Amino acid sequence: MAGIEVRVHFTFLLLLAFYAFNDYSAGGTKAAMDGGIFILLLFLCVLLHEFGHAFAARAFGIRTPDITLLPIGGVARLERMPSSPWQELVIALAGPAVNVVIALVLAVLIGRIPDLQDLMGLQKTGAGLLVNLFFVNALLIAFNMIPAFPMDGGRVLRALLATQMRHATATLIAARVGQVIAVLFGVAAFMTTNYMLIFIAAFVFLGAQQELAYAKMRSQALNVRVGQAMITKFQTLPAALRAGEVPALLSGNDQVIFPLVDSSLQLRGLATRDELLQAARDLPAQSPADCVARQIPVVHPETALEEALELMQRLAEPILAVVNASGQIVGLVSQAHLAELSRLRDA
Ligand SMILES: [Zn+2]
Repeated sequence: MAGIEVRVHFTFLLLLAFYAFNDYSAGGTKAAMDGGIFILLLFLCVLLHEFGHAFAARAFGIRTPDITLLPIGGVARLERMPSSPWQELVIALAGPAVNVVIALVLAVLIGRIPDLQDLMGLQKTGAGLLVNLFFVNALLIAFNMIPAFPMDGGRVLRALLATQMRHATATLIAARVGQVIAVLFGVAAFMTTNYMLIFIAAFVFLGAQQELAYAKMRSQALNVRVGQAMITKFQTLPAALRAGEVPALLSGNDQVIFPLVDSSLQLRGLATRDELLQAARDLPAQSPADCVARQIPVVHPETALEEALELMQRLAEPILAVVNASGQIVGLVSQAHLAELSRLRDA
């Protein structure tokens, strides 16, 4: 849609089936149909919310390759980070703003702003459906504006902080605020014995944790060159390798990923240990094993590490090859390795 790939996670179908079945056992086929339609409309609201983010990003020249719908909500994957806090603020607010517009349209259709009393004992059809959808949108606005990652409110908070300080510091503070809120959710869950809140608390806590780890990695990447952080100890394999030669070459080392190079050390591609062993099993011994290799983006040792991180993020590529001026491979940078370095520096 509009040049954006919309993907639906298969567990979403399970959720749909679960609710339809629930309504079926309570009220038969008609209730199941109504319940199913309600869930689909709910997810339409979530989808429009994500398109709000995507269109705001597009206004700043940032592409959104895909939107994924999960049972817990939607995720719009932006091609790169917005370059200023103001852009991030607008993109983060654009999603909930869509739900505000939907809620207002529903209020007009209903004829007034519904109150909670309207919700009691309502069927999910006709006017009842509109009232239900109104409250779903109100809930989406409230939930998303909680100032904690990975909710939009966390991004709003970070953007506001980032107008006053460095982006990495702003992320650090926003992530900590998010974790405090997650703990409060956890406490509230035990006090009210509403265990759904535990799920939300864990979701928020882990989201903040992830954002924090990435922000740390980024701030440590400042003023560091790729050459200082790359992996240099690894074995390469000849690109002219035959499938039959693979097992002997791989035995006695536990490396999981192998650059394939030609005789002048030019990178020809990258293959995992599993892919190579698979080729050894499936292909005739004399056939070239490099057909399993894939191309990966390359950077240079002088490239700023921050730039390399952004490239990985943008391409959703966890590993980059480092080549020198004559195209020979001299190192690898991987997200896993950088995260490890970041943890070591913490400790
Ligand atoms: Zn959002």
